[in-house]
Order: sequence, then C-alpha cells, then structure tokens
Amino acid sequence: MTPSNRDRVTIVEVGPRDGFQGIAPFIPTATKIDFVRRLASAGLERIEIGSFVSATAIPQLRDTAEVFEACRAIAGMIPQILVPNARYGVAAIEAGARSLVFVVSVSEAHNRNNVRRHPLESADDYARLIAACPQGVDVRLDLATAFDCPFTGRVAEAEVLDLLERLIAIRPDAEICLCDTTGRAAPDHVESLFATVRDRFPGVDRWAFHAHDTYGLGLADVYAAWRGGVRVFDAAFAGLGGCPFAPGATGNVATEDVVSMFRQMGIETGVDLDVLLPIACDGALIPGGTPGGRVRAARSGLGSPTCGR
Ligand code: ZN
Repeated sequence: MTPSNRDRVTIVEVGPRDGFQGIAPFIPTATKIDFVRRLASAGLERIEIGSFVSATAIPQLRDTAEVFEACRAIAGMIPQILVPNARYGVAAIEAGARSLVFVVSVSEAHNRNNVRRHPLESADDYARLIAACPQGVDVRLDLATAFDCPFTGRVAEAEVLDLLERLIAIRPDAEICLCDTTGRAAPDHVESLFATVRDRFPGVDRWAFHAHDTYGLGLADVYAAWRGGVRVFDAAFAGLGGCPFAPGATGNVATEDVVSMFRQMGIETGVDLDVLLPIACDGALIPGGTPGGRVRAARSGLGSPTCGR
C-alpha cells in the first residue's frame, strides 16, 4: 500500500500488546494466541502481538516469546513486536522477529517515566538497534506523546520536529507513527501536525497514527489524520488499552469502530467487520479489561452477537 492510494487504509491491530498490557489478571498464553489467530482471520494483516520488555515492568507480556513463536506461522499476517530499547530489540531479532516497533516519547518527562532516560538517549539507542538490524527486518518508530504529555500537557511542534529530524536520519525508510498517548489531541491538532511533518520530511512515505479514545476523540482524530494524509492506523479490538505509564489514559480507538467508519466512507480496510465483531465482543469480556468503542453495542441490536455489556 502506498500513501497516495486514497482508496485503501491499513489497520494495525495493537490489542494483543497495547490492549492486554494494562490488564492485571494474567491472560493465559493460549487465549492470547487464539485471539491473534482469530484477528488475523478477520483480515488484520499486521498485529502487534506483544512486547519484549522487562517482565517486572509489564508482567502481562512476559509470554510474548511464546505468543510470537505460535503466531509467526500464521499465513498472511505480520506479527509486530514492540521494544523499549536496543537490548530488547536484539533479543526480539534473535527470536526471529522481522517487524519491530521502537518506542520513544517526545516528552522528556514521559520518556523518563516510560524507559528511564532522556529522549536523546533513546535516539542514540535507536541508532544502536538500527545498526544491529539485519537485512529484512522492518522497523516502525512509535513517537509517543507527539501531541500531548500526561505530565506536562501540550507538546510543542518544534520538539516533535527536532526529535524526528534526528530519528529519521538514522533510518529514513522506517514507518513513523505519531501517537496521541493521552487521547487529548484535538482533531485540528492531529491534522495540522501530520500536514507539517509530511511537508517537512517529504522523504518519509510511511506515516501512521495511534489514537486513544480517552476523551471520545478517537474516531474524529483518525479521520483528521486521514485528511492529513495518513493511511496506516493503530487500533485495538474492543477498544481495549491504555498506557500503564500515562495516568488516566483509557482505551485505544476500537478496531471495529475504525473499520466501520472507513467502510461507510467507501474506503477499503481489508477487514471483515462481521468476522471481527464476535472477536471484539469476546475481547470486551476479558477479565480485568476496560473495553471501549461503540459499534459492538450498536450492532448487537441489529442481530449481531450480543455483547456482554
Ligand atoms: Zn495505545
């Protein structure tokens, strides 16, 4: 898919990582694998299946290596693994990962809280990871708090541009995802920041957006990013999610809501909503989870599977 193709978007399902990580009761490994398989069967071709990260920091994801091992053979699906630093990135590569997500926050306060270092130290670490990447390993860069920081509020555009300048020089062909970590970004902010970065970095042809629905702005922000030229969107089935290091952050924008919106706009996602809805309904019932989104409930009144909430 190229960003110039206005008739198709790609949805990256991040529920098994972003959605599950904040759920306290351990989700059995077999259940995680089953969800990934079913999500792939709905047509989701990119799924963030977990994170190589300290088991102390995020105990829920301590079985990512097993989940990855079981899911890497799923036909037509690319399993993504999120890594917070080069050390875990190398471990993921050694485990066979071919699609990595490296995360760094624009906001110093958030980055220190998340990975205990300054964003520029993370940038240096990103360079170490890229240097260690063999041919054929694809890298996506998640820029957390690109719009707003839970600790310091609105993030200045200049800070985003400065950090991007440094990071893009390290690997110009990486996909770059601007993340609204807190869900507080307004649609006009989202559209204008994407317009600015696309203008400033014309060599980058893969921009992505990660929305949260904390303030009910998730879909509006996805639409704004789409207007700003973005064609790759993160979403989590059942609207599960939140960031354990972003106080108050609730769910990611729900995959079923994003699929439904684009379908109404006549834009292909490759995802079968009728297959996805029962999976989302089951996701909403995961013990300890906080589901979000609207389409599950709306469709349950039209003969679709009834949701448990
Ligand atoms: Zn998220």
